[in-house]
Amino acid sequence: MTLSAFSAPGRFWRGNLHTHSDRSDGCLTPQEVCRRYRAEGYDFLALTDHFIGAYGYPITDTVPFREAGFTTILGAESHSGAMANGELWHILAVGLPADFQPPHAPGFSPVEGQESGPEIAARARAAGAFVAIAHPQWSGLTLADARSLTAAHAVEIYNHGCATGCDRADGAAIADLLLSEGRRLSLVATDDAHFTEPDHFGGWVMVKAEENAPEALLTALKRGDFYASQGPELRAVRLAKHEVAVESSAVQTVIVQGHGSAATAVHGQSMTSATVPLDRVRTSPWLRVTVIDRAGKRAWSNPIWR
Ligand SMILES: [Zn+2]
Ligand SMILES: [Zn+2]
Repeated sequence: MTLSAFSAPGRFWRGNLHTHSDRSDGCLTPQEVCRRYRAEGYDFLALTDHFIGAYGYPITDTVPFREAGFTTILGAESHSGAMANGELWHILAVGLPADFQPPHAPGFSPVEGQESGPEIAARARAAGAFVAIAHPQWSGLTLADARSLTAAHAVEIYNHGCATGCDRADGAAIADLLLSEGRRLSLVATDDAHFTEPDHFGGWVMVKAEENAPEALLTALKRGDFYASQGPELRAVRLAKHEVAVESSAVQTVIVQGHGSAATAVHGQSMTSATVPLDRVRTSPWLRVTVIDRAGKRAWSNPIWR
């Protein structure tokens, strides 16, 4: 069985799903943000400014910055309600309609009477968005918080801004717990770029679609036809009876992870294909693959369900 990203028709398009501009607390104009991503070789970008009253509930219009070979998806980072630690939810919504109804979220602190995080996430999903649990480690998200966000399609397994700004980039810990509860989540890497520090061009998704167009990309994101990366390319992930076969750009480690502590690694020099035996992960209902290159950069497959 081949993971669908590698069997679906089309080609891979590189995009960043989490970005801010000066419409919220980023420091560059939307036009300059789009210009830089395009110049860096990205095929698409979702500008996701903070959807709060202090910034006028922006769903930043990036349509004027679409060009041949570069498209954009409208979106926002939505905020409403408190997590268990009392802080405001951060929920990534990519593919929102421009007229998405704002919550009552005046600023970055929760207020009385506003809808909950799970409620605004459900509304965003119903409006057509691809919804991701943003930066779980940075947020101090509990497993109960994450479990409550039933509208999520995905978890940020890596958030580059949270790596550079506070060394709290991880989403794998909570994602693995949710996978073991049977939640069919996919895994995205994002920049969360504000351009106020070196928080850009460090984490992205490679989305398999027949065309580089917003609707096709969104459909592929919702299907899970993508992988996440900081650098390495994943070219194939195939599950056989006794092993997982992985093809990639040159890496030195290929790991298959599963339920609990189950994981198996294969190490080598400049490997472009590896066969990882299933022994340790044989009974896990889900598996996923991480590859690591010589510079320590990773790529992550979406989960394989058995
Ligand atoms: Zn955030
Ligand atoms: Zn953000």
